[in-house]
Amino acid sequence: MTMADPHLIPLKPALYADFPCPSCGAKAIEARGTVFPGVHVLGDYRCGACGLEFLRDLPVGFAVQHPVAIGRADGRLFNPSGAEPWLHGPLLQAYRAPSDAPVTVERIVRRTARRVVVLNTLDFLYGHVLLKLFNAQAYLDRYPDRGLVIILPRMYAWLAPPEAAEVWLVDLRLGQAHGWYTRFNAWVQERLAAYDEVDLARGYAHPEQAGLDIARFAGIPAFDPARFDALPPHITFVARQDRLWFASDLGELCHRALNKLGLKGLGRWYVRRQDRLMRRTMRAIRRVEPRATFTVVGLARPGGYGTLARDLRTERMDEATERAWCQAYAQSHVVVGVHGSNMLLPTAFAAACVEVLPDDRIGNIVQDVFVRYPDRMQLFAYRFVDERARPGQVAHHVLGILRHYSAFHRNMCVHTV
Ligand SMILES: [Zn+2]
Repeated sequence: MTMADPHLIPLKPALYADFPCPSCGAKAIEARGTVFPGVHVLGDYRCGACGLEFLRDLPVGFAVQHPVAIGRADGRLFNPSGAEPWLHGPLLQAYRAPSDAPVTVERIVRRTARRVVVLNTLDFLYGHVLLKLFNAQAYLDRYPDRGLVIILPRMYAWLAPPEAAEVWLVDLRLGQAHGWYTRFNAWVQERLAAYDEVDLARGYAHPEQAGLDIARFAGIPAFDPARFDALPPHITFVARQDRLWFASDLGELCHRALNKLGLKGLGRWYVRRQDRLMRRTMRAIRRVEPRATFTVVGLARPGGYGTLARDLRTERMDEATERAWCQAYAQSHVVVGVHGSNMLLPTAFAAACVEVLPDDRIGNIVQDVFVRYPDRMQLFAYRFVDERARPGQVAHHVLGILRHYSAFHRNMCVHTV
């Protein structure tokens, strides 16, 4: 018998059952089938020793480290590894209140395959879907004899790699993803019955990104590091409005207080202030590097940057906008923005970033950065400043990257053993 592949969870012909019973610990698990209610994929099991009937998270996506189980008879939660409530709370809630609402799925078939690997990217958070989707390249490359089937929320259709055998576009918004959709499960089960062999891709939360080619997803090539010095310096600012750069403790404190008091209108002053901070950063960069040009993106009403920056902000997202923003990132030596999943695509395309990392996000550092480099460039190209950083400090880092990128690369990554 060969060692099981750790990156595949078998569903068919035999369902994964290599774990102890969550109740009595016996390893006599009888596997009966799968359930695909939405974000989670679960196995339907019975313990041969104590008779417990239960559903258990298959170890994919965020359940890789924390597969929880639910007792069929009483809806009781088994959480042996101590998963945090955000991982199992919504699951249990959904299980107890299943929905028979119709869920539209569009099945796109590019290649017929009887042996498939299924990658489920459904999630309730924007960045989680992207990160799960980025698993696709490894599965395409490692299992060329299998067809990759990607379950994808429709809003990400433009990022589906054309090499996938099938893409199932699911009409669920992020906020709806946590439901327990019986009709979606029925649709999936019907599909699975048609294949000879099915494995689940792990859908790791943080797939390796060095070597990951974003062009295989978006069809737009990333910034070419070999041309760093040859291209005129361009910097893109990502201006999100729901998490702001304050540049002072007082600013953040006041913004929080205004929001608490329900005075969001007054809080908008801080959105305008963030624009001022970004403009001051641009001017500080241009004083030293007069050739520098800028783009600003974000979900917001455009305006206010004059001739200083190309303003691609909009309040309505569509595929054309997504692509225009990606083109801007792909021309960028550096992207600048506040921490969050909004930085994943910018860093996937740009050569480097300077990120404002709020104090309460310190535990999430780098989770939102697409780390393009395998070597010491990682320490050079991805810079973090705290939320009190002034425009001069951010500009200083951007200029440092522009000026020293090539020499650092030569000295640290080329002429070395
Ligand atoms: Zn048992």
